[in-house]
Amino acid sequence: MCAAGCRPAAPTPPNILLITLDTTRADHLGTYGDREARTPNLDRLASQGVVFEHAVAAAPITLPAHVSLFTGMYPFMHGVRNNGNFSLSDRLPTLATALRSAGYGTAAFVSAFVLDQRYGLARGFDEYDDRVSLERRGDRTIAAAADWLTAHATLGTPLFMWVHLYDAHDPYDPPPPFREPFPDRAYDGEIAFDDAMVGRLLDRVDALGLRTSTIIAVVGDHGESLAEHGEATHGMFVYESVLRVPMMVAWRGHLPPRRVPAVVRAIDLAPTLLDLASRPALPAAQGQSLAALARGGRIGPESAYGETYFPLFYMNWAPLRSIQDGRWKFIDAPAPELYDLSIDPGEQMNLAPLEAARVAALRRALDQLTGGRAGVMNRRPIERDTAQKLAALGYIGAAQSGVARTPESGWRDPKDMIGVFNQIRRANAAVEQRRPAEGERIARGALARDPDNAFATIVLANAEMEQGHYRDAIATYRRYAELVPPSADAHHRIAVCFSRLGDVDRAVAEEDAALAIDPRDAEAHELRGGLLAGRGRLDEAVRELQMAIEIEPVNALFRIGLARALITAGKLDEADAEVRRALELHPDSADAHAASAAVAAGRNRFDAAAAAYAQALRLRPDYDDVRLDFARTLERLGRREEAAAEYRRLASNAATPPEIRNAARQRLR
Ligand SMILES: [Zn+2]
Repeated sequence: MCAAGCRPAAPTPPNILLITLDTTRADHLGTYGDREARTPNLDRLASQGVVFEHAVAAAPITLPAHVSLFTGMYPFMHGVRNNGNFSLSDRLPTLATALRSAGYGTAAFVSAFVLDQRYGLARGFDEYDDRVSLERRGDRTIAAAADWLTAHATLGTPLFMWVHLYDAHDPYDPPPPFREPFPDRAYDGEIAFDDAMVGRLLDRVDALGLRTSTIIAVVGDHGESLAEHGEATHGMFVYESVLRVPMMVAWRGHLPPRRVPAVVRAIDLAPTLLDLASRPALPAAQGQSLAALARGGRIGPESAYGETYFPLFYMNWAPLRSIQDGRWKFIDAPAPELYDLSIDPGEQMNLAPLEAARVAALRRALDQLTGGRAGVMNRRPIERDTAQKLAALGYIGAAQSGVARTPESGWRDPKDMIGVFNQIRRANAAVEQRRPAEGERIARGALARDPDNAFATIVLANAEMEQGHYRDAIATYRRYAELVPPSADAHHRIAVCFSRLGDVDRAVAEEDAALAIDPRDAEAHELRGGLLAGRGRLDEAVRELQMAIEIEPVNALFRIGLARALITAGKLDEADAEVRRALELHPDSADAHAASAAVAAGRNRFDAAAAAYAQALRLRPDYDDVRLDFARTLERLGRREEAAAEYRRLASNAATPPEIRNAARQRLR
């Protein structure tokens, strides 16, 4: 019996599963018309849910795009304008914070370092699985997510789970059997792989009996240019190839299948999901719920905005902002662009010179939306390891995302400069792949076209250093430091050049300059320590190396450097502890085994030393100075024949450095 005041039980809030597909163009899925695609799982989900045929991302860059998805805001409002050197303010509510405060159990599983928790998206998640060094393959991410879902499905609380798949990001390297069907289209193979991973997760949802109690949303963070407009990947432009993303919402038994042709925005997704779950809207969101549109209504957003500040932050070229109404699209560039997407979806014919009135109207709309300003910039300092990781993910030039030097009126137009950008990418790749002479030639070509380009300058300096042209490299690094002040990195690299030239005093002075700019520059501490150790200033050296390790505790090379200084100082027990830790971090490090051998030799345990040297040489056969130490140790043990064999190997190898070759020859006499 129900007493007075008794209310009907509130319906159980639905679970929400949000899947973000990195770097996924809408038009490379079957459900968006790609007949060659192999995306059966996404196509099936689309046929059972609401497909937004014209969804526009807020930015062609992973972090800003995801922050827009989670806040329902454009980047100029939430302030995250780029990967790496921006983070989300902890004041802004997100889809995750809203759902957790509504009693949801929340978990995120991300697949790339650019979404590491340090960038602010972890707030609101009970669990934020970013166990990713650079990126992780989708099968591992999905396995972790499916386990969490299974463990939490029966707890009685509604669940919000976000799963991010990064596989479609370049380099495109789909695992078998997704490689073979796409011999010339590895990108599509990656999308096919992601589709299979989505299928795996949906199978788990079904197996747990959650399909009708779970809203499933899939969205791309941004697309990929695939050489359109001269761009290989994404970031430099705001064309549809990078802004048009797949977006679908399925909720079996609650949301009838439908296709929505109207222009909508990725920032509308979070408001839509909250609305479908009967939760209040995010207070400051610019996006709006599409629930009515999804149910067949006609109300939707009138325009969609997209931006990229990548050209400004990485290259000191003009940022790009676009606005579109579903047919007309305006790009605010030094040379403005206007496209009629209804007849020119590839944005090949710039109508701006012919349509001054329309350009003016769209520019007014853009100014009205943005307030005519660049907007919020929520910067954070960029760490050296971050810059390296971003570079390894293809976001090259992140290290020099410094202060804009050129006044706005002099900004170069990215569409005129994309060739230079591609040149710099090629130059950088050549240097990384140990073809520094080629890298130098290409970098000089880029600098001829854009003389103040900081990234081209540092690529040139790196190419010079790799070729052993240390004096040239020093001059070029100095030029770079002028372009992007203050740069601890430039001083550190100059120090490396001086140390290779044997000029220890100048090298130490450059590291002092680096550390004055960035006292937490671990590599500067490490090299400074090594230089001081070489000078016999062992106590100072040990302190510097310990500082480097304090900053980067998991860097095995730093621990090996410290162990070497401790060996020289006769502190063998302390050295041994560092070597053991290095071997835990890197069991296959030839350097660690060589250092272990040096500790054993210091303790007169030559059998153990010989074994450790042999292990180091198995891991790295071209480790010539270690081979010399190995041969000397064999001699001490009286194993003369074996020692002679090692000396002969060194003496006869043309690739062995001359001083080692000569030392080996002397022992053979
Ligand atoms: Zn992305």
